[in-house]
Amino acid sequence: MIKFGPSGTDEAFAAAGYSHTTEVPGFVRDNGLDIFEYSFGRGVRITPETAEKIGLAFREKEVGISVHAPYYINFAGEDPEKLRSSFDHLFASLDAVKHFGGQRAVFHPGSPLKSDRREAMTRLLGAVDRFMNEFYDRGYQDCYVCAETMGKINQLGDLDEVIEIVNLADNILPCIDFGHLNARTYGSLKTKDDFRRVIDALIDRVGEKKTKIMHVHFSKIEYGKGGEIRHLTFADETYGPEFEPLAEILAEYRLEPWILSESAGTQSIDAKTMKNLYFKHSNDK
Ligand SMILES: [Zn+2]
Repeated sequence: MIKFGPSGTDEAFAAAGYSHTTEVPGFVRDNGLDIFEYSFGRGVRITPETAEKIGLAFREKEVGISVHAPYYINFAGEDPEKLRSSFDHLFASLDAVKHFGGQRAVFHPGSPLKSDRREAMTRLLGAVDRFMNEFYDRGYQDCYVCAETMGKINQLGDLDEVIEIVNLADNILPCIDFGHLNARTYGSLKTKDDFRRVIDALIDRVGEKKTKIMHVHFSKIEYGKGGEIRHLTFADETYGPEFEPLAEILAEYRLEPWILSESAGTQSIDAKTMKNLYFKHSNDK
């Protein structure tokens, strides 16, 4: 089943008088949504006890939960100590999502910093491969790490690079951030066929199974010469992308991704708009 929800708590959550994460699943359900993404962007700081409490609240309302790993993870780094700490931050994110009762941890693959892009990508692939060996040795088979497409051109994580990463192991899913893809290609996602090309590339090169259950981030994003500048809301009419042509493709291909809104402050409202657009084009109810 396709699922929609907000990434992080938004203005409507605060306006309703809520503040604690245990209140999120009720809010998500009240808004007709299914899932939530919890951000550890600035670090994994949660005790197992708190995480278990949050997990209980999500299970009671049958709301799905994923996590976003720290932004400073860099699998392309040259310094072995920093690379080890990137591994540890992603494992800590996986531990937290297990306590929450979820399975998915999204991560930003990395940045070449001052090195050649292809050399950095080779280092990154080697590091992710070693990470995944440890992942299986340590018994995380029930979880997925989701490699995200990135919005800034100088970051690793265009569509081809994410496909290479995803193909390293069974438990790596693509996290396709369509706002990021659109920003780094200066607005290339406009028509149904533009989205179809992305989905076809995934089906051809990572396979139907992973494409069907992929992770998706969606928001409109302002961009410039270097790609992503900032996240916008669905009120934007300049930068895009629009969700409706993607909704048509998702319905046509009967895909069942997790779709998280990363709008700037209106995540729950824009997630509901996406869900409505999807069901306008799908016969499934
Ligand atoms: Zn991200």
